[in-house]
Amino acid sequence: MSGLRRRKFDVLVIGAGGGGLRAALQLAQVEADVAVLSKVFPTRSHTVAAQGGINAALANALPDDWHWHMYDTVKGSDYLGDQDAIEYMCRAATHLVIELEHAGVPFSRQENGKIYQRPFGGQSQNFGGEQAARTCAAADRTGHAILHTLYQQNIQARTHFFDEYFAIDLISDDNGNTLGAVALEIATGEPIIIEARCTLLATGGAAQIFRTNTNARINTGDGMGMVLRTGMPLQDMEFFQFHPTGIAGKGMLITEGARGEGGYLVNKEGERFMERYAPSAKDLASRDVVSRAVATEVREGRGCGPQGDHVLLKLDHLGDAVVAKKLPGIRELARTFLHLDPVDTPIPVFPTAHYTMGGIPTNRDGQVVVPFAHGPEEPIPGLYAAGECACVSVHGANRLGGNSLLDIVVFGRAAANHIAGHLRQSRYHLPCNEESIERALSRLARWDQRRDGESVAQLRRELQQTMEHYCGVFRTEEVLAEGVERVLVLEQRLQNATLTDHSKIFNTARIEALELENMMEVAIATVCSALARNESRGAHSRVDFPERDDEQWLKHSLFFKQGRRLDYKPVRTKPLTVDSFPPKPRVY
Ligand SMILES: Cc1cc2nc3c(=O)[nH]c(=O)nc-3n(C[C@H](O)[C@H](O)[C@H](O)COP(=O)(O)OP(=O)(O)OC[C@H]3O[C@@H](n4cnc5c(N)ncnc54)[C@H](O)[C@@H]3O)c2cc1C
Repeated sequence: MSGLRRRKFDVLVIGAGGGGLRAALQLAQVEADVAVLSKVFPTRSHTVAAQGGINAALANALPDDWHWHMYDTVKGSDYLGDQDAIEYMCRAATHLVIELEHAGVPFSRQENGKIYQRPFGGQSQNFGGEQAARTCAAADRTGHAILHTLYQQNIQARTHFFDEYFAIDLISDDNGNTLGAVALEIATGEPIIIEARCTLLATGGAAQIFRTNTNARINTGDGMGMVLRTGMPLQDMEFFQFHPTGIAGKGMLITEGARGEGGYLVNKEGERFMERYAPSAKDLASRDVVSRAVATEVREGRGCGPQGDHVLLKLDHLGDAVVAKKLPGIRELARTFLHLDPVDTPIPVFPTAHYTMGGIPTNRDGQVVVPFAHGPEEPIPGLYAAGECACVSVHGANRLGGNSLLDIVVFGRAAANHIAGHLRQSRYHLPCNEESIERALSRLARWDQRRDGESVAQLRRELQQTMEHYCGVFRTEEVLAEGVERVLVLEQRLQNATLTDHSKIFNTARIEALELENMMEVAIATVCSALARNESRGAHSRVDFPERDDEQWLKHSLFFKQGRRLDYKPVRTKPLTVDSFPPKPRVY
């Protein structure tokens, strides 16, 4: 493959969100030669949009303990989370948040100077008692603060950045070692091969597969698509989080922090309806619970507005000072997109696709693990994943707010530590299989050769609408089965789609086509996994199977692209050092 640009690094990190940057920073400390590749400038990664905060049992505002955090996370996951990973995360949280503070994250402060902590959904003291306040916040721009700090630290550590490069596919050798990726420099359209002894996928979530979502336009599940194409499975893809308070009809997020600060939801009668669904936690019940409540109010005719298609989030009673200090970003969003000031007028909200609980199966060290021919799990040599694209699994069937920023720093760092060990053991670059490079390049070439056909943009819209309609908050076998059919038709149509109907082809059009292929892979995995799971657990709510069924379904799903096959593996219910939390009915 002469003529193509080639570079070699010890480690290739694909993705410059909080997960990728935390990992790169850790690797810089052991003086590994690290390249971070991102399809957008690093500080535009979706982590920048995180509003509410990051969880850690610091006990700055109210009594707290990491055991309680662990209990809440296991319960929040509807018992599908792996308890060893959850223990690992909750124990590491306090240390890692203080570390972020020392790295320069400008957290908001309490009167006594300690990091400000706000109450968030699903948080309790004493294993299910009073509301806790565990979410450390920098106003309502916590992700922005964390991402910029991590980026600056990486610049200081001389991490090598490939900004605005799009990773197309992974490359490997004949023995299954992952050895980097083929990428495209977006500005020039020139391909580049980046060879690495270890590759970390930190490509973020995929909520763009739904029409109404809170995610950046770039959250198209590229890393997940790459993994499926290598023949490896994705785990627990039926579990997509719908956030209860997206701006109605538009989808932008109004942070749970708004309810944490005392905001609450009302229906058209002005009733604070969450009191009926979650008598003790009310508006701060877990997200799946609140989303179902909102959707139910609307379905049963108690929605607000001329179409009765949303409910209202009231913040006006909080007063100007609280909103200005604690929720300035929310106020700005409401003013920009709704032309209203939440200090005077409640915000119209409805559930919106938000977070990908499922993803690339990994262990606690971030190694990508797969079962070989129904045997025990084994790590894929040289391949790691961390952050929202991974499924470790700490969020199980439903993620708690504030636990994802925690997940990315905890497992970004854990993966980097394991990679450092791997680098010490295998000191040389292995020769990669040129066919794997050809395969990646041929995907690009296929798009460049096609001239007639449907437009990528149209298919993307149809895919998003289909997923929203057939795989939303409430699901049934009939609707999901139709969803599978429709998505498969779209996949067929994608084979004949074309980049543009204009004479000129821009590189961005090529990127959008490659992204749509990834979205299609993720959507198929999601809707097929959802059709197969005949129970309701966490965010996966089957009207035809309304109960959780631990006997049959306390297990993780694994979806393989080939043959659209599903397999299952047990949940790790044993924590590392403490007693496990056995499944109980989940009430808030
Ligand atoms: C609006 C919003 C608010 C949120 N608020 C909170 C909150 O308050 N608390 C909380 O805990 N969580 C929150 N979350 C969730 C949390 O922010 C994310 O889960 C987390 O930041 C994801 O980080 P990441 O590093 O995994 O990925 P991201 O930050 O999404 O970064 C992904 C990176 O991968 C790169 N990439 C992707 N594909 C490719 C490709 N093909 N080639 C090259 N590069 C690629 C992108 O350029 C980007 O750099 C929020 C999410 C949203 C959308």
